[in-house]
Amino acid sequence: MGADWTGAEWGSSQAAGRAAERRLGLLAIPLALTVFVIDTFTDIESAIAVLYVLVLLLAATALSRRGILRVAAGCALLAVLSFFLSHWHDMDLSTVLRCGVSLAAILITGALLVRDHDSRALLVRANTALARSERRYRGMFEQARISLWEQDFTAVTAALDALRADGVTDIAAHAQANPGWAREMGAAVVTTNVNDATLELLGAAGRAEVLGPLERFLPAEDPALPQILLALWDGRDRFEGRAQLIAADGRTLTVLLGISFPDDGVGFDRVVVGVVDITQRERTQEALLAAQAELARAARAATLGALSASIAHELNQPLGAIVLNAQACLRWLRRDPPDIETAAKAADRIVRDGKRAADIVQRTRGMLVRDTRCDETIDLRQLVEEVALLLERELSAAAAVLVTGFAPDVPPVRGSRVALQQVLINLVTNGLHAMAEAGTPRRELTVTVERAGDGAEVRVAVRDRGRGIDEASRARLFDPFFTTRPDGMGMGLSICRSTVESCGGTLTAHNHAEGGAVFEFTIPAALPEPPTPAPAPAPAAAGPSPAVPARED
Ligand code: ADP
Repeated sequence: MGADWTGAEWGSSQAAGRAAERRLGLLAIPLALTVFVIDTFTDIESAIAVLYVLVLLLAATALSRRGILRVAAGCALLAVLSFFLSHWHDMDLSTVLRCGVSLAAILITGALLVRDHDSRALLVRANTALARSERRYRGMFEQARISLWEQDFTAVTAALDALRADGVTDIAAHAQANPGWAREMGAAVVTTNVNDATLELLGAAGRAEVLGPLERFLPAEDPALPQILLALWDGRDRFEGRAQLIAADGRTLTVLLGISFPDDGVGFDRVVVGVVDITQRERTQEALLAAQAELARAARAATLGALSASIAHELNQPLGAIVLNAQACLRWLRRDPPDIETAAKAADRIVRDGKRAADIVQRTRGMLVRDTRCDETIDLRQLVEEVALLLERELSAAAAVLVTGFAPDVPPVRGSRVALQQVLINLVTNGLHAMAEAGTPRRELTVTVERAGDGAEVRVAVRDRGRGIDEASRARLFDPFFTTRPDGMGMGLSICRSTVESCGGTLTAHNHAEGGAVFEFTIPAALPEPPTPAPAPAPAAAGPSPAVPARED
């Protein structure tokens, strides 16, 4: 874009040039006649015919390839004709040589002019193609219904190069240590052109309102800018992600950004950025999610009510019986003499009813965990990546990043895919809540997966950078209904632990030495599939083959 020549300018300048060349070319005719007359009718003893070279040079400006060849041939003929006319009677070696030199000059000049003509034609064709593609590109840019920006990133790349030269190796840490730096870089990105769709998107009256430093369209807290800088730092050839833009009337728009960076290091002055407005879609989705969350909360409350009523109802009977039997037991013991045998029977009934109450509690827990079937082989890397994808919105809303680390030799595990996914979602969501409550500036969650227990198990650890687990909560974290959050239910960790344990693993929590909590669970590795047995040879008529022992039922 912004080419020095537009297609129309190129065309009209070419036409003007051609007219001037034609005028110059016409001068060749009188010049050729003059040379012929001097060469034929004067007795100047030199190779006058060499001057036909000038005729050729003048004519070539206006002629095609074939025209140049014809004029060269014509000049050569005129030179030979002059030679015969003026030297027919006194032909000697020097006159023949002079004529030869002239002919050689004419022919060499003709050949050079033809070559020059060919290269000029090639250049013109290339320029025309360039102008056409330039026009097409400009048309696409202007008419596209998606907002396109052309931006100059050279100052930013220069600043990044300078940082690298200063020995900076971790740009994220640099941005963290210098809070105003990303903003400065935003000011260094200069918008050089935008299309009409961009003006519509921003509600801007004209291009002049939009061109210039990008910074004024970016909200201060938007994490997109540091992410773009990171992509540039890593030398990536593109960036795609969600960002926010401030429109001309101050509205905040949510957009999807697509940026292609030049991969050869040049062209950072014309980086094209595509922007798609998803504000409305996001709002609808948010309303939908809020309604879903409200529905889920209502459903949970209803379930909880029904559950409490059913537990109360079911426990009422054994507890009542325990109290009655305990009172009877006391009475038999207080008799004089105490009736130990009848008291023991009452105590037996107390034990029986106590066990029944425990069974009821156990069954209720089973209902909550929903009979986890741990018979699937699961690739934890894939599971963690799925969870990262499922929680993309929550992470972005919390301005947090999820960093994953996978040890190289992690085997697949045996468990329930959906249940383990739920466990991870719970732990990551708890981490996000913890960091939001603590107001952590660096909102980073780390999920690591590695071998444990001599390779028989796999350990998954979720680390956040919140305040960590406080002393008062530590012992009760996994108790049902324990919560410190005003809108919490306190069932998440309890259900997570039951799920992990029902698949043969453990779930524990501790604080990290550098701050934040770590929740980690282990899960048994899947045993390698047994080799498929080879088809048994057909049994011999006399009985089972000795290699395949007969089954004893
Ligand atoms: P809820 O999230 O509904 O409170 P949970 O069972 O998931 O229920 O969590 C129980 C409690 O454990 C939380 O209220 C909080 O006090 C504590 N907790 C959970 N995760 C974390 C964490 N990552 N950091 C600090 N405390 C946590």
